[in-house]
Amino acid sequence: MSAPPRIDRLSEQSAAEEASARVAGIRRQALFRDVNEQIRRIAASFAVEEPLQLVCECGQGDCLARLSVSPQDCEALRRFPSRFITRADHVCDDERVIREIADDRTDAPLARERRP
Ligand SMILES: [Zn+2]
Repeated sequence: MSAPPRIDRLSEQSAAEEASARVAGIRRQALFRDVNEQIRRIAASFAVEEPLQLVCECGQGDCLARLSVSPQDCEALRRFPSRFITRADHVCDDERVIREIADDRTDAPLARERRP
């Protein structure tokens, strides 16, 4: 009985690592969405009208990018639980940009809603 070719084991390992990274990315998105939701709720309870300082909800493990988003844009985004807000350059190939949101600090389209 011969062992499977080395290349097969490597590709299986690579697929397992890729799946593990994807799961970690999904967990991260959910965690930062919760953090941002808490920021939004607290701001709403104090009727804050200034831009909210949110954390990027992308799936990249080391991303701590900040987004400056108006309370109105944040409120509109949260009507759709399947959507996330990320920096424009943190949208993955398998995701679709739903809407661009201007970053209030620079007035440039840095933030986007996205759906995995
Ligand atoms: Zn990011």
